[in-house]
Amino acid sequence: MSLDGYVLTGLRVSLDIVNRLTTGMSRGVTYECENAIENLQVILLDDPPSVQQLQDHHISEFQRLAVSLREIIELLSKGAVELAAKALNELLAHNPATPVLSQEQDGLWRLHHHPINAELPSMWSAICAEGLAREIGNQKALRFGVCSAHQCDRVYFDTSRNGKRQYCSMACQNRVKAATFRKRHAP
Ligand SMILES: [Zn+2]
Repeated sequence: MSLDGYVLTGLRVSLDIVNRLTTGMSRGVTYECENAIENLQVILLDDPPSVQQLQDHHISEFQRLAVSLREIIELLSKGAVELAAKALNELLAHNPATPVLSQEQDGLWRLHHHPINAELPSMWSAICAEGLAREIGNQKALRFGVCSAHQCDRVYFDTSRNGKRQYCSMACQNRVKAATFRKRHAP
């Protein structure tokens, strides 16, 4: 995919890949990724060529990427920035994110940020790794979090002004509020 919106895409896709492809708990219930291809089609919607190229044999690599990204985000959520940076550097070494100009079918030249012939999972590993690495470089490492609601381990990136986000979603925030209310008003 081209460089436009590339960094934000890397961040969003990283979070989506972790939240949609890793098993665990989501908003109070067990989460298992039932259809990886369908989930990936939604995750990669911003880049139609990726959706077109997506095939069954790509799934296991995307799942491995999801596990790596979860580990990195969990490290960041605990403040272990050095370990997370090391893991991201390894991911970037295996999946280089190098700017390359390429002339496309419409005859226009576009700037890409990965080898043009990279396989889909490798290309997205590079985009995701760079998306996370940029936030660390922008001193936003501690903005990554794992939902602190009961029975939820989905991840988020805190863009709030005060940086005090604790939950993956409004759904979890409301679950916690309701549980606190019930406890307070229990007979
Ligand atoms: Zn949650």
